[in-house]
Amino acid sequence: MMIELREVSKTFTLHNQGSAVIGVISNVSFTVAPGECVALTGASGAGKSTLMRMIYGNYLTQSGEIRIGDVDIVQAEPREVIALRREVLGYVSQFLRVVPRVPTLDVVADPLRALGVSGADAHSRAEELLRQLNIPERLWSLSPTTFSGGEQQRVNIARGFAHAYPAMLLDEPTASLDAANREVVLTLIEAAKARGAAIIGIFHDEAARARVCDREIDVSCFTPGLAA
Ligand code: ADP
Ligand code: ADP
Repeated sequence: MMIELREVSKTFTLHNQGSAVIGVISNVSFTVAPGECVALTGASGAGKSTLMRMIYGNYLTQSGEIRIGDVDIVQAEPREVIALRREVLGYVSQFLRVVPRVPTLDVVADPLRALGVSGADAHSRAEELLRQLNIPERLWSLSPTTFSGGEQQRVNIARGFAHAYPAMLLDEPTASLDAANREVVLTLIEAAKARGAAIIGIFHDEAARARVCDREIDVSCFTPGLAA
């Protein structure tokens, strides 16, 4: 699948500051080919997370075109966005957000169940990922809400990679992981690329970025509001 941004811009209106308008992203255009991983770089506050949220269709008003395959998520109806996120566009956010009391195994298996995969198949895929990511089996029946930061991050990764999404957004997927688990995540990313996924990621870890990313896009080049 291909991800294509054309002349994408985003401003925020600061209602607590006399409705001042700040431009965060201005005229970004780039394409991510199937099997390619592109890193968003730039200092804190440059707009990396904002751009990721735009590509995920989080903002109602934004200008330009953001094509995920043949769907422009800027123009898509809410139900199309929901279907796109379920089937096509995966998003591994920085922090795990879950419904309380849902067991870890279901947290990971649920994206597959939502696609119509049987309970048994979804659970076996979830088990495979949890094992790969070194989440001890005794934790699988517990909710991840009380897990350590690193464990939650690994559950988050397992859920994000349960389905073979053709397009993926990764927000710091290797942050707070030890070397062994970072290696597992990088291997999952390489496998996703090998099957043709188009990936956009934020990686503060330079070694990780150098290994899995084919190109870098410096988001601070597109943030005129911050240059002043
Ligand atoms: P990065 O991920 O590169 O650190 P962000 O995308 O989080 O940067 O933030 C880019 C800029 O946009 C920052 O100046 C931030 O304060 C601002 N910003 C982000 N979201 C909002 C919002 N909802 N309202 C106002 N400003 C915002
Ligand atoms: P993340 O999910 O990446 O931790 P946040 O959404 O919490 O990021 O915030 C990203 C940046 O945007 C931060 O600098 C935050 O202060 C700023 N920000 C978020 N929402 C607003 C807002 N409504 N007004 C101003 N700044 C905001």
